[in-house]
Amino acid sequence: MRLCLFDENRLGLVEDETVRDVTAVLDQLPSRRYPFPQGDAFIAALPSLRGAITTAGRSAPMKRLSEVHLLSPVANPSKVMGAPVNYQKHLDEVTSDPNLHHQNKDHIQAIHQSGFFLKANSSIAGPSQSVVIRHPDRRTDEEVELAVVIGRRAQAVPAAEALKYVAGYCIGLDISIRGPEERSLRKSVDTYTVLGPYLVTADELADPSHLDLEISVNGQLRQKANTHELILGIPELIEFASSFYTLLPGDVLLSGTPDGVGPIRPGDVMRASIARIGEMTMHVRAR
Ligand code: MN
Repeated sequence: MRLCLFDENRLGLVEDETVRDVTAVLDQLPSRRYPFPQGDAFIAALPSLRGAITTAGRSAPMKRLSEVHLLSPVANPSKVMGAPVNYQKHLDEVTSDPNLHHQNKDHIQAIHQSGFFLKANSSIAGPSQSVVIRHPDRRTDEEVELAVVIGRRAQAVPAAEALKYVAGYCIGLDISIRGPEERSLRKSVDTYTVLGPYLVTADELADPSHLDLEISVNGQLRQKANTHELILGIPELIEFASSFYTLLPGDVLLSGTPDGVGPIRPGDVMRASIARIGEMTMHVRAR
């Protein structure tokens, strides 16, 4: 199942190049009172809503996917976790380029040593919302990554069980200002976490370990890799993350970017794709 949020927070069931408006299904979410539980209520309820979504989709109004305004497919994650250096060639690239490490390069470590960073939830945007450059005087790079959306509460999950906790996958862009500050600051500007084009539920993508991913900027290929090159694969990332954080429905795990990162500027057009998920186009603009 492929699910998107579009236009004015409509829920869409994506089939080929069309979107069925199944927003009425959201009326079945449990009514809640303040303080609301953390996590994404729709992702938490998704297993029980799938039948209703399928039924509603049969008679729902239809639009072309290319004609809707795509938002992030996850509205309210409790956190966005990032894997800093999780492809060996990107580790090599970062340690060899002073513009990328900005510190003693001996401090640049593979994910085993460095663990995760968090991105502010306010940085999340959908593909139809442009990346808005906040500090044009600073180098700002694209990073394309497989994004994992957690489906249910997870604590200390072993890798062998980890994929059972995944709701689905989407493309993630971890837009990053280069420089000496903490990652959680440099990567948390509004619109610097792009998620899209829609959520592909885990039943459609049983094995995330062999997916081609790539991104081009203005038609020039920048990054191209396959998730089999990840230093820590998706199950190991979930095991690692859930040994520190409690993962909640809707939480997003950005699995790391391959080599080839480079600067983006207002006016640029990025096109990202991941095999078996889809592709999305994002514009970069000035503030
Ligand atoms: Mn990244």
